[in-house]
Amino acid sequence: MNNNCHSNQCIKCTVTNCENHNPSENYCTLNCVTIGTHESNPTQCQCVDCQSFVMKKQK
Ligand code: SF4
Repeated sequence: MNNNCHSNQCIKCTVTNCENHNPSENYCTLNCVTIGTHESNPTQCQCVDCQSFVMKKQK
């Protein structure tokens, strides 16, 4: 899924543990991501999540 040649400069991301993260730049490699929440009444940024996160495979 990850392609090191591609980064979507509209989606900055620092989650290096995600399979979709570009390891050489702090960008996501996906064309679009889904953001959601695990709270019933989100009030701060910690309440929201990237639901396109995929845990990076171990090498
Ligand atoms: S899928 Fe979400 S968590 Fe993963 S690199 Fe893209 S924006 Fe970051």
